[in-house]
Amino acid sequence: MTRPIAAALNVVMLGPPGAGKGTQAERFARTHGLPKISTGDILREAVTTGTDLGRAAKATMDRGELIGDEVMIGIVGERLARPDTERGFVLDGFPRTVTQATALDGLIDGRGPLVVVDIVVPEEVLLRRLAARRICGSCGVNAPIEWTTTCGVCNGELVTRTDDGVGIVRERLKVYHLQTAPIVNFYSGRPTFRKIDGNQPPDQVTTLMDKAICQASAVSNGARL
Ligand code: AMP
Repeated sequence: MTRPIAAALNVVMLGPPGAGKGTQAERFARTHGLPKISTGDILREAVTTGTDLGRAAKATMDRGELIGDEVMIGIVGERLARPDTERGFVLDGFPRTVTQATALDGLIDGRGPLVVVDIVVPEEVLLRRLAARRICGSCGVNAPIEWTTTCGVCNGELVTRTDDGVGIVRERLKVYHLQTAPIVNFYSGRPTFRKIDGNQPPDQVTTLMDKAICQASAVSNGARL
């Protein structure tokens, strides 16, 4: 007799910088009790604590370029091996290349379907949002609009991300179009791929996303994709 596999909710958030992936991933993960895994957060933490990874990654991140696939696949492979991902996870910022997307399929083979959400936002809106974006200089959390100067978690000072400067943002968007946008084609034929209009108030995006992910996951009904 084969044991039924417990349904897991494995989610990938796609979209350019400023699309709202981090905010929406955080909300979805909290609502569904899943770990949110943000490769950008993992790298920024490594930079702040000054680990070997952080020292090696800092210059590349500051230029708005991508860290090598092998390093990133290693980081995510280790993270997905932790027991808290057994019921699923929400990935934010990974995969960012087709090589990473292919590797992710291998990493989660047999762990249930992967729901992929692509958040679509026009470029001029992204540029406006990135210029206004602030994070906490102490704990690194993304600042929601209602925090004006200090962090609501640790009282730290709100700052602009070093890679949110105008020149770097243009480079990051270029990198997105060249290296990350092809992932949309990689996933778009799958029955668990969903596009979401991210150019609307965050709460509306949250509602749409929740509906889309739950529906996609139900449709897949545990089938291997
Ligand atoms: P994010 O916070 O997702 O915008 O990521 C910030 C920076 O971290 C990116 O501009 C890249 O330099 C690096 N990074 C994050 N995730 C990845 C990834 N999956 N592959 C390569 N580089 C990454």
